[in-house]
Amino acid sequence: MNPMDYIRKEPYQLFINGERVTPEVEDTFEAVNPVNNEPFAVIYKAGTKETNAAIAAAREAYDNGPWGRMSCRERSDLLYKAAELLQERLEAFAAVEALECGKLYGSAYYFDGDKSVDALKYFAGVARCMKGEIVPIDHDTVNMVQWYPHGVVGEILPWNGPFMMGCQKLGAILAAGNTCIVKPSSWASLTMLMFAELLLDAGFPKGVVNVVTGSGRIVGDAIVKSDDVDMVAMTGGTDTGKAIIAASNETVKDIALELGGKSPNIVFEDVDVDDVVKWAKFAFTLNSGEVCVSGTRLILQRSIYEEFLTKLKVECESAVPGDGFDPKVTLAPLIHKEHCDEVWKYIESGKAEGARLICGGTPYTDPELAKGNFVPITVFADVTPEMRIFQEEIFGPVLCVTPFDTEEEALKIANGTKYGLAGGVFTKDIKRGLRVAQAIKGGQIYVNSYFSKAMAESPGTGWKQSGIGVAGIKKYMISKTIFLDTKDGSVPF
Ligand code: NAD
Repeated sequence: MNPMDYIRKEPYQLFINGERVTPEVEDTFEAVNPVNNEPFAVIYKAGTKETNAAIAAAREAYDNGPWGRMSCRERSDLLYKAAELLQERLEAFAAVEALECGKLYGSAYYFDGDKSVDALKYFAGVARCMKGEIVPIDHDTVNMVQWYPHGVVGEILPWNGPFMMGCQKLGAILAAGNTCIVKPSSWASLTMLMFAELLLDAGFPKGVVNVVTGSGRIVGDAIVKSDDVDMVAMTGGTDTGKAIIAASNETVKDIALELGGKSPNIVFEDVDVDDVVKWAKFAFTLNSGEVCVSGTRLILQRSIYEEFLTKLKVECESAVPGDGFDPKVTLAPLIHKEHCDEVWKYIESGKAEGARLICGGTPYTDPELAKGNFVPITVFADVTPEMRIFQEEIFGPVLCVTPFDTEEEALKIANGTKYGLAGGVFTKDIKRGLRVAQAIKGGQIYVNSYFSKAMAESPGTGWKQSGIGVAGIKKYMISKTIFLDTKDGSVPF
């Protein structure tokens, strides 16, 4: 399979109101292969005019189109049809995602692809199962709590998994009955453009899903500030989340933010070290560390500290870097040179601040790898909470290891950053596992494994500066409470 077979030769247009649209000012940007930094596709940049056209299309589709009148069953049927079409076209989606983001192709197909199809099927089911509530008040009142779609949703996506995240979020947005403007990251725009066309093929009415590519500061900001957008959800960095909070103040719109993380992974001395070394590596190297919930701070009981580090070094040094389309490769490049340079700055900062380098930490010398954005798996030991590498999200395959003696100390270290996204705990003592999981200040915790086993059914919520808003379909819905009085002449005063 050659991924270029799935790439268009002509520039990718925006997708507005069911059509490919060329912006008035024909400005473009390039999609670049992270393996060698060579451009492979051209994409149009939307301006404010096109963003407003996409918002107007979503507004019209919600207020006056057939979508707003559809039953839950009809919406469910469309989502299921989309899942079936996606399954048929999965190779194309996985190939383009792997090429643009620098992922392992197998992972893009069997993990991201599988989860994307599954999310659409899951939300096809959810669309049929939404329920309100009858609250018992007194004998003369029927109090109904109902859940409504927000209306027009702006969904702003990050670059680290736009295909899977986009399908999961659009599954929920559409199951709830909203229309949407999707703004993908400029570093990873293609799969959402493809997906919008797939939805049209599946039978979704035009204008229900629109995709506008381009700059966050122009397109994203216009979506956030628009009076015609009822709700904005953004997944991305905490600083971008803060900018969105500020920009949403004029319209007081509902916002939901899924932001950065610096998740702790606490390992107690009673574990099977060989087994947990593999988990600890997996927790911070999946997708080359470009995963929001990565376990990037390993908090390790002192009695097993050196043994664990020795074994972890061997495990990390066995990674095979290269092009993610080569099945022998296990470590793909980072998405972009700019991001890669930032990760290297953190590695230099770790060295300068006196952390002990266990492995990685110097660029590959192979000239082929030097063309791309490759960072060897890097482990720093003896990292203290004052260090930048302990406090700040690096978003690459870089681990900070800190020793502890007591459970209380482990929790103090674990909760010592501004983030609260996720965390792990490894111990054979199940009571301690639960106690520690409950005490970690984060919205998604794993005991004796790492990463979610049910992203659609059981999504995590960001605590502290890792996010705002509830997880799941309710994120895209708003409640109403109706009091129906069944008795005549019951004015109280
Ligand atoms: P980013 O914050 O740079 O960008 C996210 C999106 O916001 C992009 O589409 C960008 O164009 C847009 N944007 C930028 N400035 C904007 C503005 N002023 N107004 C509106 N939109 C704007 O994030 P990224 O670098 O693309 O992604 C990596 C980050 O995403 C990491 O911090 C990671 O932890 C986070 N992330 C979080 C989760 C989660 O579930 N919590 C999941 C995945 C990624």
